[in-house]
Amino acid sequence: MLVYLDNSATTRQYDQVTESMTKVMKDYYGNPSSLHTLGYEAEKLVKKARKSIAQSLGASDDEIIFTSCGTESDNTALYGIAHSRRRQGNKIITSKVEHPAVLEACKVLEKEGFHVEYIGVDKKCRLDMDALKRAIDDDTILVSIMSVNNETGTIMPIEEIAGMKKNAILHTDAVQGYGKVDLKNCRADMISVSAHKIHGPKGMGALYVKKGINLPPYMAGGGQERGYRSGTENVPGIVGFGRAVELAFGDFKRRVNSMSASRKYLLDGISSNIKDVIVNSPADGAASVLNISFLGTRGEVLLHTLEQDGIFVSTGSACSSNKKGKGQSHVLGAMGLKPKEIEGAIRFSFSEFNTIDEMDYVLDKVEKAVTRFRRLGSFR
Ligand code: PLP
Repeated sequence: MLVYLDNSATTRQYDQVTESMTKVMKDYYGNPSSLHTLGYEAEKLVKKARKSIAQSLGASDDEIIFTSCGTESDNTALYGIAHSRRRQGNKIITSKVEHPAVLEACKVLEKEGFHVEYIGVDKKCRLDMDALKRAIDDDTILVSIMSVNNETGTIMPIEEIAGMKKNAILHTDAVQGYGKVDLKNCRADMISVSAHKIHGPKGMGALYVKKGINLPPYMAGGGQERGYRSGTENVPGIVGFGRAVELAFGDFKRRVNSMSASRKYLLDGISSNIKDVIVNSPADGAASVLNISFLGTRGEVLLHTLEQDGIFVSTGSACSSNKKGKGQSHVLGAMGLKPKEIEGAIRFSFSEFNTIDEMDYVLDKVEKAVTRFRRLGSFR
């Protein structure tokens, strides 16, 4: 049995997405900027996909910029706003639990002289809203807070933050929230999303930029994406993204309910069958993520043991978990977990393809792996 529970790292592409992309590569290979029919056909496909993505965010088509990934969307938003609003203020506010796509960009901005304030979280990764309120002042040009945390699934109150941001632009990294929580009414000024987290292609993202906000071009050149991001469009990627959005949002409720059922079943089973665990995800977190510390074990060893049984999980975010020296999660650290609690943490992340039968299998294997580890210590 193969049970894929690492959907926050990436998802299996929908077959229909692959089919649509293959068709574009074979038949619609024109450059959308070309004046002939092949170019026009490609341009039409890009427009259609843009419309789907705009609708999924409650936006209009000309508020969407296609990018090469969620990271690029985040970088475009942070650098763009910081540089274009430099005269209005010098302060940027973010959280300690953002993805490196935001945190590392903030470090670069700090080196450029911006003052960045990092807001903390509690034991369930909930943002310290009082600290955020105190931090937002007239000098604040940008607030960037993720909509769903990638390691715990904690949902951040973006709409509430929109109500207290004063003159700042509010950006949300919604890479993990997209397709899982409603972003149409979140009232953020800018939203980063990525296709590969919703069964679309890797290397494809988008940035929503509310009308009226001016960004300097992120890539200068031929003027594609209304001048914000030049470069010939990745037409197959864009079409695949659009198709993924149609499928994921066309079936939003059923998908989320299905993830939720898998998550609940696994959580209930672990809580009643395995002693000495800490549930790091909040009860009202996103349906897609469940983070649990199995005390007295090492997550990395559990991960490889489960892998031998065909179960794929993660110890933290995929992007940082395989880097030397970055072993311990900055998110769980910011939540105040002790090193031993972080060491035993596993992230299970779900998609609509997971089933209750799979969860029974996972429960059995997790219980065995944890019991064995606790009895023998590290057995690898
Ligand atoms: N932001 C968050 C919260 C993420 O989880 C990820 C990917 O894991 C990213 C940004 C980066 O997205 P991408 O892989 O498309 O660059």
